[in-house]
Amino acid sequence: EAKGAGRNALRIFRPQMQSAFEERLTMAADLRQSMEENHFEVYYQPRVSTRDHAIVGAEALLRWNHPRRGMVPPNQFIPLCEETGLIRGLGLFVLTAALRQLHQWQQAGHRMSMSVNVSQRQLADADFAALVEDVLAETEVAGPSLELELTETMILEESPVLQANMNRIRRAGVRLSLDDFGTGYSNLARLRQVEIDCLKIDRSLIKTLPDNAAVTNMVVAIARLMDVKVVAEGVETPEQAAWVRDAHCHEIQGFLFGRPMPAAQFTAVLQRQRDGERSETAA
Ligand code: C2E
Ligand code: MG
Ligand code: MG
Ligand code: MG
Repeated sequence: EAKGAGRNALRIFRPQMQSAFEERLTMAADLRQSMEENHFEVYYQPRVSTRDHAIVGAEALLRWNHPRRGMVPPNQFIPLCEETGLIRGLGLFVLTAALRQLHQWQQAGHRMSMSVNVSQRQLADADFAALVEDVLAETEVAGPSLELELTETMILEESPVLQANMNRIRRAGVRLSLDDFGTGYSNLARLRQVEIDCLKIDRSLIKTLPDNAAVTNMVVAIARLMDVKVVAEGVETPEQAAWVRDAHCHEIQGFLFGRPMPAAQFTAVLQRQRDGERSETAA
């Protein structure tokens, strides 16, 4: 009977699997076409200082402006880009666009840095660090103005290519951060080996604040023990902002202080901040 059930299951699931497969093929083709036709855009979300809420940086977040489906969020297409290898080209597009934009903002006098997400596939390329150096040189951005966001699972494996890339990137002065911290199983022994500059506490932990603070407290304590910069992600309420300030997190990224937005809109926000500073010193 087991055999029969298996055959039945196959008959039931085959059409579904095939359509999912076809959908992925269509999407991969759409992605390739959109890359050729420049249907991707980089949005920027502010990162503010916990102390005075001044903008100290931005995170570059990729958006796909699909000709028929409209704006597609990254969680719906990045995994497929990673599986197909398209992330190499897209990742380079994001890095180049973000650093060009940062150069413009810095030229306009805004002191800020830029954070860019990196995928496992990119970091596993032997020439990734050299590519980062090339883009920095081409866009005339100093290494310390760039922060690359990695995740814990990416650095778990002790591969020579990964280590060489990380070493070379850090030698260029570029900072490394761990994104979505506190969501996975943290290998503390491994964390002590890798040199990182910043931990970004995942928004699922911030979401529980201020009522259920036990786990978040522990994660902040780990971050502070490691003596790195601590950023709280996903802060949406003034209560959460107060909590992370009292917990001595250094920076905040969250809807309370700004959603991801197109570059032109971010420019306007930076300009308003500067005008505010001017009127403060004049008063
Ligand atoms: P992430 O790197 O953790 O980026 C932060 C995500 O949290 C963004 O979602 C942002 O919109 C969202 N977020 C920030 N503050 C809040 C808040 O207060 N409330 C809520 N509900 N959400 C908040 P987004 O832009 O949809 O990006 C999702 C993920 O896609 C990113 O998570 C990152 O893992 C990935 N991603 C985005 N752009 C790139 C890219 O250029 N390359 C790679 N490899 N991954 C990217
Ligand atoms: Mg990130
Ligand atoms: Mg992430
Ligand atoms: Mg995150």
